[in-house]
Amino acid sequence: MLTNTSNDVAQGQEFVGHGKPLFLRRIRNTGRSVLPVRDCIRLRFAQFCRHAMGGHRVIAFENVGFNYGGGELLSDVSLRLAPGSFHFLTGPSGAGKSTFLKLAYAELRPTAGRVSIFDRDARMMTRDDVALSRRRIGVVHQDCQFLDHLPLATNVALPLTVASRTGDAQDLTALLDWVGLGKLADALPPQLSGGERQRAALARAIIMSPDVILADEPTGNLDWEMSLRLLTLLVELNRMGKTILIATHDMNLIRQAKSQLAARVLRIQNRRVQLAGADL
Ligand code: ADP
Ligand code: MG
Repeated sequence: MLTNTSNDVAQGQEFVGHGKPLFLRRIRNTGRSVLPVRDCIRLRFAQFCRHAMGGHRVIAFENVGFNYGGGELLSDVSLRLAPGSFHFLTGPSGAGKSTFLKLAYAELRPTAGRVSIFDRDARMMTRDDVALSRRRIGVVHQDCQFLDHLPLATNVALPLTVASRTGDAQDLTALLDWVGLGKLADALPPQLSGGERQRAALARAIIMSPDVILADEPTGNLDWEMSLRLLTLLVELNRMGKTILIATHDMNLIRQAKSQLAARVLRIQNRRVQLAGADL
């Protein structure tokens, strides 16, 4: 039996303000794009694909169940994340939010049902397939760990290094500026505040220009001002066409986001993932 969670949200919203795509306005205002040029090209491509494919899913759960061995934690979960959609995932501590995210980026495989990532069955994916899919799915981990002896810029560029891709130094500078850490490029991670670490983690998650960003309680340890700053970045990424899923139990953050865009709220309750009502 399917839970009542089928959810295919292509937001269809384009870019805010003056009828101009965000990155075009930035190019006009500042003389250059704040995000890598390849991101702008990908954005156009993503928009084209979204229209051409009529809101194709990027991640889909079909009757998914999961247990770590001590009884089922998630049961019969069915939902789809459409390109360009913005979702929150809520639920009490221990409900399975982090587990759900790990299933969505194939860190874990379902014990029942099927998870599809860019139309590939997660259970059929080899280690190489998973590594490749990670270039399209940026993950902001809850604990955002860094290599403490390496400068911030090197830490942020690490996914490029691991993928044997040489980064464009200008792209890296633009990205650090965008998250407000341009002046801290040479700082070591232990010198950063909580808010700076979270923004660095976001920069690292998007340096490969992923289509999807999954963030696990990214504002968990931040004050309200810093939470808003991080949310603003995630909203901006969504307006560039990225698909966003944020696990959080911060209802104020959700309300704030919903005042800015058509975010959907998923709630884990009694092992099921359900679309929350308008009461949030
Ligand atoms: P949330 O992110 O909502 O707080 P989690 O997905 O982290 O929840 O965990 C859900 C439940 O699964 C918790 O009871 C947790 O203890 C358990 N759990 C998480 N990871 C593991 C693991 N690797 N092995 C066994 N149990 C785990
Ligand atoms: Mg968690």
